Order: sequence, then structure tokens, then C-alpha cells
Amino acid sequence: MSTTFADRVLAWFDKHGRKHLPWQQDVTPYKVWVSEIMLQQTQVTTVIPYFIRFMESFPDVQALACADPDEVLHHWTGLGYYARARNLHNAAKTIVNDYNGVFPDQLEQVMALPGIGRSTAGAVLSLANGQQHPILDGNVKRVLARYYAIDGWPGKKPVENTLWEYAQRNTPHTRCGEYTQAMMDLGATICTRSRPACDSCPLQNDCLAFAQGRQAEFPGKKPKKTLPVKTVNMFVIMNGPSIMLIQRPATGLWGGLYGFLESDDDHNKVASQLGIESFQLETLSSFRHTFSHFHLDISPFVIISDSSKVREVAEDRQVKWFHLHEPIEVGLAAPTKKIISHIQTML
Ligand code: SF4
Repeated sequence: MSTTFADRVLAWFDKHGRKHLPWQQDVTPYKVWVSEIMLQQTQVTTVIPYFIRFMESFPDVQALACADPDEVLHHWTGLGYYARARNLHNAAKTIVNDYNGVFPDQLEQVMALPGIGRSTAGAVLSLANGQQHPILDGNVKRVLARYYAIDGWPGKKPVENTLWEYAQRNTPHTRCGEYTQAMMDLGATICTRSRPACDSCPLQNDCLAFAQGRQAEFPGKKPKKTLPVKTVNMFVIMNGPSIMLIQRPATGLWGGLYGFLESDDDHNKVASQLGIESFQLETLSSFRHTFSHFHLDISPFVIISDSSKVREVAEDRQVKWFHLHEPIEVGLAAPTKKIISHIQTML
């Protein structure tokens, strides 16, 4: 009779687990790694089309390492958390330079790559190579916190350490890759954040949260704090059906993506700084974009000038002009895309 935690989870996986995801076909560490990075903070259904496009353009680690950074960020447009794409690109270069293009197979080596923590490293090595490493992503934290009724927010080190201990203890010595996938699937489809399907769960018999009717209390919530609000004016410089976008510095907020000119000055001053003498102004509705650590209230303005002189500002290396009727193939943050879509409806 199946009795251990892992046996029950694996028996459930055999019947109900996901086995047809694109990164589960012809498995390679590269595919698993890219999928794991995309899946951080992002749902499977959202990730699938991004993953397919990414693999079409960058089918292996060499292709990714050689790619233009703008092209990599373009493939990430809409997924958010752009540091993930920059780290992925940098890690690919490290794998090519330091490991001859072969994904390393030691946990410490994988964890030393940019953007890969212990859980992601464990997931890649277990899913791709069948190595015995525990994982502790958001889904697994939720399952374990409920099953063992572990109080406290997992962002606190002692709580996280306790969860790692349980994760380690339950990871079997055989079928490690399937167990990793099973735990992810169980958290994503059964032990969901709200209204877990406990009646379909293979762990129900001895799950403490279920026994106590306290599923909603685990994992413990992050202590609330009010997010600060920042404001920014974004100026869209428009010349005919083209707009000017500026590449942001490689690090920091929206690093490496293209965006609009930002300034605390008003539109007259901005126009005069750019040498634009006559223009028409459109003021778009302000909106809020929320990051994990602050709200950003964005006020967009469109400065429309037909003068060909406007293009002279494009001499700056980081400035590019984009035709609004053509696909913009560089990385764009969600608010930039939103403003562009709005302007396209005005044409
Ligand atoms: S019984 Fe319910 S709360 Fe417990 S692990 Fe299963 S789904 Fe989660």
C-alpha cells in the first residue's frame, strides 16, 4: 500500500499530473531552465505562447548567448519582471564561456548562474536530469505549509528553513523529476491559493490544515505595509505616424527596455529642450501601474510635431523611432505598451 508522502503524490501524478506541456517534450536542461524562469510569478497558460516563441527564436543556449539583448527583451514584452530576461541572457553567456555551452550539472554551479536560486536550480536538475534535489517554489511552500500547519510568513528565514527541511525530507530517491513536477502540479491545480480541492487531494488523510479546517491560514501572509506612491510624466514625441522611444539604462527599473521621455518639467519646457518649436499637445488620461514595492502614477502627454527637425534628436544612440503601423520589436514595459495602444487608436 502506498503510504509515504512521496508515494501518494506520485500515484496522484500518474493519474492527474501534467505531462504535455511544451517544455516536457524532448526535455533538455535548457528548455526546463527557460520554462522555470518564465513560470516564476506567471501562470502556465500565460507562459506557453511566450515559451514557444522564445524556443523558435533561441532554440538552444548558444543561440540565446549570441542574441541581441533587445531581441531577448522583446520576447519578454508583457511577461513582466524583466530582470529575469536579462539574467537568462547573461547566464546563457556564462554557460557558453565557462561550460562550453553545456548546462552545468552540479547544484552549486547552477545556483551561481545569474537569476537562479536554490529552488530553480533544484527544479532544473531534477526535471531534466532526474537528480535528487528538493524544490520550494510558491506552490510547494503552500502545500507543505498547509500539510504540516506551519505558522508564519515563508518570507521569514526561520519559516523558510523549516519548509526546506520538510521539502528535503519528502523528496524521494527515485522518480525525482516526476516528484518535482507532481508537487508543482498539486500546488497549482489542487492545493490552490483559494478554495483548495481537498477532496481530490492525495494528502488529505493526514493534512493538518485540512483536519483543523484552517487551509486559508497557510501559508502565513506577508505583514501588510502601505505602498508608497511615485508620479511620473511621460512624453510621447510623435512625428507623423512615428514615435520616439528611448532605451533605459541596463540596470534599474525596466532596465534595457524602451520607453518614453520622462521629465518633471512641463510640455513646453520638454519641447524646447528638444528644439521643437511648434507642436500640438494631447493629454492622455493618467493611470496607475503597481510594482511590488510602490505605485507609479503615470501622466502621459503626446507632443505632436510635423517638423522634420524633430528627428534630429534621434542622433542620440539610445533613441529610436518606431512606425506605429509596424510591430515594435524591442522590449517594452506594460505601461509603454498601453500608451502606444491608446495612441494607435487615435490614428
Ligand atoms: S488536503 Fe487540502 S490543504 Fe491539505 S494539502 Fe491537500 S489540498 Fe492542500
